[in-house]
Amino acid sequence: MDYQWYPGHMTRARRQMQEDVRLVDLVIELTDARAPLSGRNPDIDSLAAGKSRILVLNKSDLADPEQNKAWTAFFRKDGLVACEVNARSGNGIRQIRPMIAEACREKIERDRSRGIMNRPLRAMIAGIPNVGKSTFINSFAGKASAKTGNKPGVTRGRQWISVERTLQLLDTPGILWPRFDDRQVGIRLAEIGCIRDEILDAQELACELISWMRAAYPQVLSERYGISPDGTAFEVLGRIAEARRCLKAGGEPDCGKAAALLLDEFRSGRLGRMTLEKAPD
Ligand code: GDP
Repeated sequence: MDYQWYPGHMTRARRQMQEDVRLVDLVIELTDARAPLSGRNPDIDSLAAGKSRILVLNKSDLADPEQNKAWTAFFRKDGLVACEVNARSGNGIRQIRPMIAEACREKIERDRSRGIMNRPLRAMIAGIPNVGKSTFINSFAGKASAKTGNKPGVTRGRQWISVERTLQLLDTPGILWPRFDDRQVGIRLAEIGCIRDEILDAQELACELISWMRAAYPQVLSERYGISPDGTAFEVLGRIAEARRCLKAGGEPDCGKAAALLLDEFRSGRLGRMTLEKAPD
């Protein structure tokens, strides 16, 4: 499986992450609420070892609300401070500060017992490409937030954004790579648009999505396109093409066009809120 990650890119990303993580107290890890496991980096536990952590299920507006709750509870049970967020609208962002305090409680208490008051906590955002890191930084830090340490000639290298007096956020997020060894993970990440489609062609990917959707959300295809969801996934794709007038010059269904349309409608949430990975009971 290749997508945009080549061994050289991965080595660089890992080295950068290892350097940056030394500068912070806390790692705010973002994953995609539609595929919370596939959206995580396989090495995050060792990369962030010894640091406080919170896990943000981003793009929660596109995911199944019941599953958002179930996943948040699952991760919390597992000992991770977790929450759901819509970084684009800002929904859920207000929970982040109290969660940081919760995740960093020991450090804050340790500082206090040593007589150090109000030392700003330092945090970084990390996650795979397209998970919403830049959007989250804007939403969390606020457009008006001051960048510190960026006086010309004074500071080179990392820049910090002050989020209130007590928190500083590294202005560049840590870019993490996804799992490479699992084809299903690659398919899910392609379906949600976190990696380029090239792992499968669009029609194959659309057929994977149709098969999954029929099992997990059986009404969606017939309700959205007014078609029968029976038969092979490819036949269903052909019906979507006809229903949406995706036709070739001779009038035959253009399944390539229908695949692109279906994927786009899924990714943008127009098919409804769905979660590809079900939380364990
Ligand atoms: P990055 O590569 O991790 O920095 O991701 P970006 O911040 O550039 O976001 C990738 C895309 O996802 C952009 O089109 C964002 O507008 C979109 N996006 C980010 N967060 C959310 C969210 O919570 N909900 C939705 N619907 N879209 C989001």
